[in-house]
Amino acid sequence: MSDAEYDVVIVGGGVAGLTAGLTSARAGRKTRVLTGAALGGLLISIEQIDGYPGFPDGIPGYDLGPIIQEQATGAGAEFDATEATALIADGERWRLTTDQGDVRARAVVIATGTTLKALGIPGEAQLRGKGVSHCASCDAPLLRGRTVGVVGGGDSALQEALTLAQHVARVIIFHRGSAFSAQAAYVQRVLENPKIDVRFGTVVDEAIGNGGLKSVRTRHVSDGKTDEVEVAGLFVYVGLAPATAWLGDLLALDESGRIKVDGEMRGSRRGLFAAGTVRAGAAGRAASAAGDGAAAALSVDRYLREGRSG
Ligand SMILES: Cc1cc2nc3c(=O)[nH]c(=O)nc-3n(C[C@H](O)[C@H](O)[C@H](O)COP(=O)(O)OP(=O)(O)OC[C@H]3O[C@@H](n4cnc5c(N)ncnc54)[C@H](O)[C@@H]3O)c2cc1C
Repeated sequence: MSDAEYDVVIVGGGVAGLTAGLTSARAGRKTRVLTGAALGGLLISIEQIDGYPGFPDGIPGYDLGPIIQEQATGAGAEFDATEATALIADGERWRLTTDQGDVRARAVVIATGTTLKALGIPGEAQLRGKGVSHCASCDAPLLRGRTVGVVGGGDSALQEALTLAQHVARVIIFHRGSAFSAQAAYVQRVLENPKIDVRFGTVVDEAIGNGGLKSVRTRHVSDGKTDEVEVAGLFVYVGLAPATAWLGDLLALDESGRIKVDGEMRGSRRGLFAAGTVRAGAAGRAASAAGDGAAAALSVDRYLREGRSG
């Protein structure tokens, strides 16, 4: 795609990027979407997306991305499963660098989302893929009849604990706080589930195992008492880090590294827009990411017509 030029290039293949691609193509803009490795984004590994409009019984996360992509392709958007490595001003245009060559655009929508944070404890990196995981739906079937740990106390941790409980013998949730921050519906289902134990006020300090996870070392935050708990899997949901490092200091970010935008998804540089969980103040649900993508694409369309930008 060397030096191809588009009205709009969208960076990100999650719900926000795919919806931006769909909306932009429908507005008649020559549109390219660089999806990176994960078409569907974070949702690709989620067994059931709850609360997405139009699917009252939920929808598997790995199904939603391809459905939106097909719709966007039908509207005329083009796709590359490639990653953008740099974004550089090029006169009135923007140039994106990828391992398949450069692409130029009059406007760019950044929808690179977030990645799940690691705990940063000893043993975690060595045992990743050997018991330590971020993906309940991928690994749960391999852990039937076993005990697994989940770390975290928000929506993701509780939702994934409920998914795991459908497959494994027992789930232990380790949460450093004294109460969950998740939606009430998840909290109730977790507390009522006989397969799930909850250890509040507990941190995981070490993942232990040689070639495969065997146990975790835990510590009670109030008295410092430690324990070793046998688990065959450890699923970590302790927050999300925005994928903005590749942008360097190009755009104004908030203190968490998310892109600051105004009400029309415009970033701090002319012609650059952001959508989804990579933007400051995002609501963090799939429906809001889709809404952001549509809003950003329509804002780009106005910008290209009227030359208005942040
Ligand atoms: C465990 C878990 C369960 C969840 N369950 C639900 C649920 O039930 N219901 C709900 O509404 N929400 C749920 N969410 C939240 C939901 O997943 C997110 O709000 C939504 O996926 C965000 O979409 P996004 O498009 O903004 O970003 P992401 O999904 O993070 O997508 C980012 C995209 O950017 C791409 N990318 C990154 N860097 C680059 C680059 N340099 N170049 C090109 N592409 C790049 C990635 O490949 C990916 O395609 C859950 C989240 C988690 C972690």
